[in-house]
Amino acid sequence: MELLSSDEAGMRAALEQARAAAAAGEVPVGAVVVKDGAIIGRGRNAPVASSDPTAHAEIAALRDAARHLRNYRLDGCTLYVTLEPCAMCSGAALHARIARVVYGAAEPKTGAAGSVLDLFAEPRLNHHTQIVRGVLAQECSALLAGFFQQRRRQNQAAARAAHPLRDDALRTPEAAFAQLPGAAWAPHYASDWPSLQGLRLHYLDEGPRDAPLTWLCLHGAAGWSYMYRQMLPVFLAAGQRVLVPDLIGFGRSDKPKKPAFHTLEVHRRILLDLLERADAQRCVIVFDASAGALALPLALAAPQRIAGAVLLELPPAAGAEAAALAAPFPDAGHRAALRAFAQPAPTDQQEQALQQASRDFWQAGAQAARLLRLRADAAEPGPGTALQAVEYFA
Ligand SMILES: [Zn+2]
Repeated sequence: MELLSSDEAGMRAALEQARAAAAAGEVPVGAVVVKDGAIIGRGRNAPVASSDPTAHAEIAALRDAARHLRNYRLDGCTLYVTLEPCAMCSGAALHARIARVVYGAAEPKTGAAGSVLDLFAEPRLNHHTQIVRGVLAQECSALLAGFFQQRRRQNQAAARAAHPLRDDALRTPEAAFAQLPGAAWAPHYASDWPSLQGLRLHYLDEGPRDAPLTWLCLHGAAGWSYMYRQMLPVFLAAGQRVLVPDLIGFGRSDKPKKPAFHTLEVHRRILLDLLERADAQRCVIVFDASAGALALPLALAAPQRIAGAVLLELPPAAGAEAAALAAPFPDAGHRAALRAFAQPAPTDQQEQALQQASRDFWQAGAQAARLLRLRADAAEPGPGTALQAVEYFA
């Protein structure tokens, strides 16, 4: 049997286990237990395959070693693990009376050996386990980073396959959004509604479906769904639902190359489809003034779903805000919708009549639908603006 002469050698054996975990599609964490220079237990992360939340590498390695020694106490043993152990695994190592725990990469979110908390430094729990940190840390964390990067790529490829891109449209690469802070909501995509004509619509849908109120947040000519990121938490904290689409041509939605695509009617039909498919009830439409012609007539087509509207008067974006709002439009080809929205096509008679009917509807406060005007504090309106809206419609 090969004897391990150093902590690095022990960690290399743990890394081998981590690679095996990655090959099996699990998050690559590996562990070995070493006694007197010999490996007596091996384990790899396997919670997905085994449907077992406790199937961490350390637990598997400890079990393997205990079987080998026919003893639940692993006196004099060293546990090598590629990632800082969590609270469960740290506890297991303490129960096993492991002499030393040697780990590679720190785990800032769940690490219980110094990062989030340090169970080993708690004198009421631990008298005998020594901790060694950061052995081959770079190699261990590179393995994890590579795994997650590959998984992101696979997810993106799967998303592309599910919603193929039309020849006459563009799709902003995900990398364009990578640097934006604080956009943690799960994307929703649709491309099979007739109104979408095969284009991919991106939207956020958060909060309970049976919420007492749904905020339909519509960006205007100079924005995309991201502009609402500071209002969403306020709506959600109030127990309400939010629907935030990127209009076709904006944000993460597909961008037809021809500006002629963009008519009010086409966009309205898509929004009505969204309301229907999401089964949105008691909606309050929040919209930027430049989206008024699009937003307000929705109430005529779906009066049973609309409870009100909030017109936001936004200051122009500057600095980091302006850069974030421009992120989905890396070049002129992606900006067809911006050009189309900046110069709305002359409206025909039918559209003019609709706009007049819409004005009458909102002026009359028909069906108790109320319109609130708010002067927003920033081009990405903040929590204060959202709170005013919540209080008004309470
Ligand atoms: Zn663990």
